[in-house]
Amino acid sequence: MTQSFLERLNAGEILVADGATGTNLQTAGLPLGVPPEEWVIDAPEKILALHQSFIDAGSDIILTCTFGGTRLRMRDSKYADQVSEVNCRAVALARQAAATRESVLVAGSMGPTGGLMEPFGELTHNQVADAYAEQAAALAQGGVDLLLLETFFALEEATAAIEGVKRVSQLPLVVSFSYDQGTRTMMGTSPTQVAAAIAPLEVVAIGANCGKELESMEKNVAELVAQKTGLPLWIKPNAGLPRMDGDRSVYDLPPEKMGEAAKRFVELGARIVGGCCGNSPAHVAAIVRAVKMKI
Ligand SMILES: [Zn+2]
Repeated sequence: MTQSFLERLNAGEILVADGATGTNLQTAGLPLGVPPEEWVIDAPEKILALHQSFIDAGSDIILTCTFGGTRLRMRDSKYADQVSEVNCRAVALARQAAATRESVLVAGSMGPTGGLMEPFGELTHNQVADAYAEQAAALAQGGVDLLLLETFFALEEATAAIEGVKRVSQLPLVVSFSYDQGTRTMMGTSPTQVAAAIAPLEVVAIGANCGKELESMEKNVAELVAQKTGLPLWIKPNAGLPRMDGDRSVYDLPPEKMGEAAKRFVELGARIVGGCCGNSPAHVAAIVRAVKMKI
């Protein structure tokens, strides 16, 4: 029987997650401005191929194509009235790919709502909690192995999201923030503040993903480790800083550099590593080569 996420972490295994969803789907033809979730319905074969490419690269964990899958974020989508169905079908695609290699785990990805909560914006705590309860229920029903709140930047939104998820699911929950100002989130929050606020909320791992350049991520990893929360760290950075080519972000970081960075993060104490924006299957393969012990 396949070992669970927690069993593998408890056994001391270093797990490799997958790479970018948006960047790679754009390479595969997703037009800028079209939410990746729409391809779950419109081009499922492309989503399946992306999952498969990460599994072939050696990913232990693949993420569902549901980052923007809350009702709040899908408000302007043509599938705004099919929130649960889009999430469920995205899990089915990931599970179909995961079935091709034993031991691949599926994480249900949930990103921020895209709005701001009171007093900075109009969203209320309950609206946000309800939206994540709905998404998490659909992901759980679809059959994910774990749930992931990723790229968060505001403590109040993450706290509301965790509350919503906990209402509907007992699945292991990982919470990861984006320090896109380098070592602070968009709201000015530090890894220390995130660890203090989130670690006590019955999550199984905390993390950092997306963000800025790899040097900042290294500082963030060290800061999170220093908090001694007792929780495993999930680290999934962008492939360095992008350059703009017209309105597209292009990531030039060679895969081996990503592998070297992932190895440093693991040496510092990270337990799950992967790549966010700009990470191709070749980057994931380089991470696997760099961090998996050959016994
Ligand atoms: Zn990213």
